[in-house]
Amino acid sequence: MADDKKVTPVSKLGEFGLIEHLTKGFTTVNPGTIKAVGDDAAIIDNKAKLTVVSTDLLIEGIHFDLMYMPLKHLGYKSVIVNLSDIYAMNAEPKQITVSIAISSRFTVEALEELYEGIKLACHNYKVDLIGGDTTSSLTGLVISITAIGEAMPEDIVYRNGAKVGDLICVSGDLGSAYLGLKILEREKRIYLEHPDVQPELEDAPYLIGRQLKPEARKDVIQYFKEQGLKPTAMMDLSDGLSSDIMHICKQSGTGCEINESQVPISEEAYNMAIKFNLDPITCALNGGEDYELLFTITPEDETKVANDENFSIIGQITEADKGYMLVTKGGNRHKLTAQGWNHFGG
Ligand code: ADP
Ligand code: MG
Repeated sequence: MADDKKVTPVSKLGEFGLIEHLTKGFTTVNPGTIKAVGDDAAIIDNKAKLTVVSTDLLIEGIHFDLMYMPLKHLGYKSVIVNLSDIYAMNAEPKQITVSIAISSRFTVEALEELYEGIKLACHNYKVDLIGGDTTSSLTGLVISITAIGEAMPEDIVYRNGAKVGDLICVSGDLGSAYLGLKILEREKRIYLEHPDVQPELEDAPYLIGRQLKPEARKDVIQYFKEQGLKPTAMMDLSDGLSSDIMHICKQSGTGCEINESQVPISEEAYNMAIKFNLDPITCALNGGEDYELLFTITPEDETKVANDENFSIIGQITEADKGYMLVTKGGNRHKLTAQGWNHFGG
C-alpha cells in the first residue's frame, strides 16, 4: 500500500456510520424495489412473477486470495457469481443483499474499494442493493451475497428438464478462468520468494480478466427471449463442465455424450495450458469459475443456437444407462470424471 493512502479505521465511523457511508452512493432502478437499505427489512413487489433467490458465501483464504484479488474486483465478482445463478434459472436478477464480516485489518478505504466493485456490478446489471448485515470477524473477510430475481412461472428453466436426444450447449469458452488463476498463483509464489521480480501478467490479459473480472451471461438470457427459445435444462458453469453436466444428467435421469472437438477453448487458454504442461481439454472440462451457461435444447431449436457465435453445441443427452461419456478427437470414448473444483481439497 502506498504511504500517502488514507487509512481510516472502521471504529472511527462506527457500524451505522460505516453502513451509511458505504451504501450512500447506491440508487435503485427497479420499480419492484419498494424499500432498500435503511429500515429493518427491505420490501420487494414482484406482482405476478415468481421470486428466484440464490446465496453465496465467500471466505478469505478459501474462495479468494487478497494477494492477487484487488478488493474492487472481489466486490464485482462476488455480485457476478450470484447474478449468474439467477440467469441460470432463465430469470432476471433485480436486487441483492450484501453481508460482510471484517477483521480490524480492513480500513474504511479498503471497504470503499469493495463497494466500488459492488456498485459497478449493480450498475452494469441494473440490480439494486437493498440491504445486508455488517459484523466483525477475528481474522479475514467474509462476504455473503444474496441475489433476488424474478421470472414468469412458464419461463423458469430447471436442471431436471433434459430429455434423451436434446443437444448440450454452452456459451462462451471454457477453462480460461482456471488458467488465469494458475498464472496468478504462479506470480504469487514468485513474489513471495523474490519480491523484487516484476509479475509476468502481460501475456495473458484475457485469462486474468476471466479470473478477476468475470461477467454473467445476461446477454444469453436476453437472446433466448428474443428468439423465443426456452432451454429444456440449464445451469451456470461454476465448478467445471464435467461435474456440472452431471448435475443436469442426474437430476434429469439421463446420460450424456460430450464431443471433445466441440468444446470451446480460447486460443490464449490453449497456448497457456501447453505452457503449464496441462492438457487444454482437461482445463476446459475441470477448470472452474467460467460462469458460462450450460443448457440443453430440443433438436428443433438447433439453428437458433448453431447460428450464433456465442454458443457451441458440444454433445447430446443420452439414456441414463449410457453413462457420462467424452468422445475424444480420435474417436475414443472415455467416462467423464467429475473432478470438478473442490474447495474441500479433492
Ligand atoms: P439490524 O440491526 O436490524 O440488523 P443494521 O443496522 O444491520 O440493522 O442495518 C441497517 C440497514 O443497513 C438495513 O437496511 C440493512 O439491510 C442495511 N445494511 C447493513 N449492513 C449492510 C451492508 N454490509 N451492505 C448493505 N446494506 C447493509
Ligand atoms: Mg444487522
